[in-house]
Amino acid sequence: MMTNDAAIIARRSGAMLVGLLAAILLAPSSGEAGQQYRAKRMKRVRALVLVDLQNDFMPGGALAVTRGNEVVRVANRLMPHFDAVYASKDWHPANHSSFVEQGGPWPVHCVQNTKGAAFHPALKTKWIKTVVYKGTDPAKDAYSAFEGTDLIQQVVRDKVTGLYFMGLATEYCDKATAMDAQNLKLKKQFGFNVHLLTEGCRAVNVNPGDGQRAIEEMRDSGIIIVDNAAALGL
Ligand SMILES: [Zn+2]
Repeated sequence: MMTNDAAIIARRSGAMLVGLLAAILLAPSSGEAGQQYRAKRMKRVRALVLVDLQNDFMPGGALAVTRGNEVVRVANRLMPHFDAVYASKDWHPANHSSFVEQGGPWPVHCVQNTKGAAFHPALKTKWIKTVVYKGTDPAKDAYSAFEGTDLIQQVVRDKVTGLYFMGLATEYCDKATAMDAQNLKLKKQFGFNVHLLTEGCRAVNVNPGDGQRAIEEMRDSGIIIVDNAAALGL
């Protein structure tokens, strides 16, 4: 049994609850509060992903990409323009299955804790928020920086609205990484856009035109190909 006072308090609390709910529901769509709410949701968060800017992929390295070193200054110029910078490293154990002597396609490269696996010495690493390590399982190769890493968790945690990729090499790890981002279910859920910054990419071109074909494939999948980052204010 409720006393009269208790019943009045219960009714008042009920009314307050209804009022509070109404305020919460109405706030996003009404007046100044609504505009602030929308502005907050629409805040642009741009993140740069540097793919494999390591010595072994630079001229003179074990798996050199022609003119690969040129993209280091592009990375250095771009990094200060972004809200977050992530970098991947190819990071193999010495007996990795992608190496020729294990029956794989590539010469020994980017062995963990070697000079070949280190970033190019001119790369301004102070701008890099986190480094993710791929290809660490001896039995499996990983071209994509999302494969076996927590990169997507970081992208979600940082509320990224635009992802921008560059690095080495265009038709291998750049393509695999950008395509993964483009295809991720999370992309739909969180609605980030995927861009490739071509001035920051160089191709291996085992077959002439491989790099250009990879770019066309990325464009066809809906990735935004940016040839002139300066035009975006980058
Ligand atoms: Zn590798």
